[in-house]
Amino acid sequence: MLKALRRQLVSALSERIAAMAQNPADETQPWIPSIEPAAEKPLELFVLCRNLDQLKAVLSFYSNGLCITPELDFATSGELQEACNWLQNCDRTALYALPRIHLAGEDPLGFYRKKMPIHGFLLRNLGALEAAEETGLAIHGDPCLNVRNRASAAFYLNAGLLTVEGANILEIPVQNQRVTLYRKPPLFHMRHCLFAQHLGRPRGCGQACQSHSLKLEDHRGQHHRLLPGPHCRNTIYRESPETFDAHLAILKGIRQLRIELTDEEAVERLLTEQCRQILSQTR
Ligand SMILES: [Zn+2]
Repeated sequence: MLKALRRQLVSALSERIAAMAQNPADETQPWIPSIEPAAEKPLELFVLCRNLDQLKAVLSFYSNGLCITPELDFATSGELQEACNWLQNCDRTALYALPRIHLAGEDPLGFYRKKMPIHGFLLRNLGALEAAEETGLAIHGDPCLNVRNRASAAFYLNAGLLTVEGANILEIPVQNQRVTLYRKPPLFHMRHCLFAQHLGRPRGCGQACQSHSLKLEDHRGQHHRLLPGPHCRNTIYRESPETFDAHLAILKGIRQLRIELTDEEAVERLLTEQCRQILSQTR
C-alpha cells in the first residue's frame, strides 16, 4: 500500500517538475506583482521627524518630482503642538506616529487631537487600531508590526490598514506597501526612564531625559542613542543605520518610500542624497 502511494507521489512530482521546466514563467507568475508605470502615481517620500529642527529641515526641503510628507514622532505634547502650528502656517499636513505602547487608562492615540493637521496615522501598536479607525483617517503600518509573510500582511490590510511594510514581500499589492530606505532601527523600547532610574526617582526624571542626550556603549564599542518618548518611555536606537536600495523598491513598483530620522544633524544632506538616488531611478 505504502509502496503504491510512494510511486504515485513520485510520478506526480516528476510530471510537475517536467511541466515547470517547459514553462517556468507560468509557475512564477503569481509571485511577481505587476509593476505600475512610473507616470501613474506620484512618488511619495515620508520623513519621520523626532524633533522640531528635523521638521524644519523637512518642511523647507523641496525636490522636484517628489511629494514629501512629514511623520511626527514627538516626546511632548508641546513639541507636537508647535509642529502642528508650523504645518498649518505652510498649509501642509502630516502623519502622526502613534505610541509604541499604551497602558490601561492612557489614550491609545497619544497626543492626537481632532483639529490637528494630520491626515493619517503610523500604527505601531495593535491596541490602538480600533481608536485610530474611529477617526476615519488613513492608517499605515510601521515596520515594527513585523509583517513577514502573506498571512500577516493580509491580517493587517483586512483590519483596515492602508499600507504595511514587510520584508520584501512580493505577494502584497504594491499600492499597499511602503518601504523604508533609511532608518536607525529601535533596539529596545522600555516603559521606564533610564534617567529616573539612575537619579533614584521612580516617579519621573523631571524632564532630565528631554534636556540631556545619552548614548549607550555596547561591547563592540558602538554608541546607541537613547531617546525619550511620551510618558518618559525610553527607546534605544542602533548607531548604524539600515538601508534599502531605492532602485529595488522602485523597480518593484512601490511608490511610497520612507526615511526615519533619529539623531541626524545633517538632515538636508541626507534628504538630498536619498532624493537623488530615488529620482535617478525614475528618469
Ligand atoms: Zn525621563
